[in-house]
Amino acid sequence: MSTDFKQQDKQYIVGSYGRFDVVLKKGKNATCWDVDGKEYIDFTSGIGVNSLGYADEGWADAVARQAGCLQHASNLYYTTPAVELAKALCGQTGCDKVFFVNSGAEANECAIKAARKYSFDKYGKERTEIVTLQNSFHGRTVTTLAATGQDVFHNFFFPFTEGFSYAKPNDLENLKATITENTCAVMMELIQGEGGVLPLNSEFVRQAAAYCKERDILLIVDEVQTGVGRTGTFLASEHYGITPDLTTLAKGLGGGLPIGAVLFGKSVSGVLGPGQHGTTFGGNPVACAAGCEVLRRVCQPGFLDEVAKKGVYLREKLTQIPEVEGVDGEGMMLGVRLKTKTSADAAKACVQNGLLILTAKHKLRLLPPLTITMEEIDKGLAILANVLAG
Ligand SMILES: *Cc1c(COP(=O)(O)O)cnc(C)c1O
Repeated sequence: MSTDFKQQDKQYIVGSYGRFDVVLKKGKNATCWDVDGKEYIDFTSGIGVNSLGYADEGWADAVARQAGCLQHASNLYYTTPAVELAKALCGQTGCDKVFFVNSGAEANECAIKAARKYSFDKYGKERTEIVTLQNSFHGRTVTTLAATGQDVFHNFFFPFTEGFSYAKPNDLENLKATITENTCAVMMELIQGEGGVLPLNSEFVRQAAAYCKERDILLIVDEVQTGVGRTGTFLASEHYGITPDLTTLAKGLGGGLPIGAVLFGKSVSGVLGPGQHGTTFGGNPVACAAGCEVLRRVCQPGFLDEVAKKGVYLREKLTQIPEVEGVDGEGMMLGVRLKTKTSADAAKACVQNGLLILTAKHKLRLLPPLTITMEEIDKGLAILANVLAG
């Protein structure tokens, strides 16, 4: 049966994805099954998307209720789920206002536009440049590819959006040297995700934030992967004690429905006026109802402490596997360095043995659902240890 689906996928879907050899059918929390009934433990949650796991009842109810009531209305009208989600995000993060989009790349596009508009309003036409970090990842649109500080992403699709330059992570002097009088914003992930689960060092982040603040350069933090509880705090910014001007969210925000958000600090929350930005699906009621349920659960007392604890447990157990050289990351965003095996081969062998796991460059990458149980963690770790022993 699965062979048939795979052939049709190849026939009808553009071949831009390298897929693992599995056709997924259904799931429950961090366990899922393929069309042939084979079971898998899921250490991926999509790519950090299914925050509450597969088929969470509260989440599915919230989505179904909203779908059966008002599935979409244009942004010409007010709707309640968007307001509720925006209010919850402001309450949780201290941001001033929210703009809803449909993906991480779009969230970053919006933040980039907001930063340039802020600078245009205050300083005129020249001050448009944005400094990002080498090895970053900010998305796949022509502008967010330009923002991404990796040469492999700067092919084929010329011309890319102008005005981006790249500084070395964890090197304040290099960042200062890359900033010019025309820099309007600095944009970074606090833990580089696709780049290899590399946490920035806190001294660098705090000093960079202070340096930007002194010069009225906006700080944009891309929390598309690290946000919404992934690292054991609601935002990764909390670990660093910084308050960015703009924060972008997406992946885990809707618990499996496409939604992203830009969190605007007070200084920037007025820069986008009527007609200056928009998106048809932005603030979609079903996606927002999903996001409300995710926030309600993730922000319940004790939930984030559990995420942090499970992260520590995972890290400890991973470190004990002889093939593992070390583990990087925070909370349940973990990168595993291997001694002899390539991450691609290991991930492939894991899938064959019933464990879904990601890679990031030469590391294995774990982004399990935040709700994964200890039993599921142990089952997944047993499969991984076994594969890595082979
Ligand atoms: C995944 C990701 C993006 C892009 O998000 P899409 O929803 O795929 O557009 C941007 N930034 C970071 C840090 C990401 O991890």
